[in-house]
Amino acid sequence: MRTFGGFKSSDEFFYGEVRGDEVSVLAKPYWVDIEPTGEVLKLADVDVDLPAAPSKLIAVGLNYADHIAEMKRTPLGSPLIWFKAPSSLLRHNGTIEIAFPQHQTDFETELAAVIGATAKNVSSQSALDHVFGYTIGLDISDRDLQKSEKQFGRCKSFDTYTPVGPFVYADVDANDLSIELRHNGEIKQRARTSQMIYSVAQIVSFVSQSLTLASGDVVLTGTPSGVGPIRDGDELEAKIDNWPPLRNGVKNAR
Ligand code: MG
Repeated sequence: MRTFGGFKSSDEFFYGEVRGDEVSVLAKPYWVDIEPTGEVLKLADVDVDLPAAPSKLIAVGLNYADHIAEMKRTPLGSPLIWFKAPSSLLRHNGTIEIAFPQHQTDFETELAAVIGATAKNVSSQSALDHVFGYTIGLDISDRDLQKSEKQFGRCKSFDTYTPVGPFVYADVDANDLSIELRHNGEIKQRARTSQMIYSVAQIVSFVSQSLTLASGDVVLTGTPSGVGPIRDGDELEAKIDNWPPLRNGVKNAR
């Protein structure tokens, strides 16, 4: 397993590969080329920033049977996809800002795939050749808007509504990983990625039939059951496998 991320040192952003307690600085985004500059920094001396800068941020809905049940929906027979605005991305330790505090705004913890090679009309057999790696994502959702509007783009695209990170992991088999969310320290979601109705390979293949996935694009793969509302002052900790957790605070935007 190799670990990559986005970092800031003295206000300068860079992509790097994490090795133990050090970060090897890369000349380009890791999904473009893994080209070390030779500069190595201590992980403790840099800030963890966004690990991806996708041209498209795609989400999948209704991909765990128990979540379909809790949402009182029925399976669609094919993956349900929509776009989230890339401007909704939030780094590890960043604060989720609830746009409408009077609305129900829920957390959803999800495995997120980062595309490595351009994918267009790929089969599910070859789809994983187009995935660079994986990270932890949250798909924060304004349920009031989601219920009143037919499309999911707006209710899930407010600034800060897609925390991801802290890092991206390559050379990982993501077919059966534990996925968990703690809300103010209490476990609210706990499942395994093997419970997904559509696997990452099937999702990437399906999406690639209708649009071209570019390297660096991010695909959120759906949430298991246990979703619940967030409020000003809350702390979320999302965990997949034994990866370092994604931690985010919550406050009202206004
Ligand atoms: Mg979701």
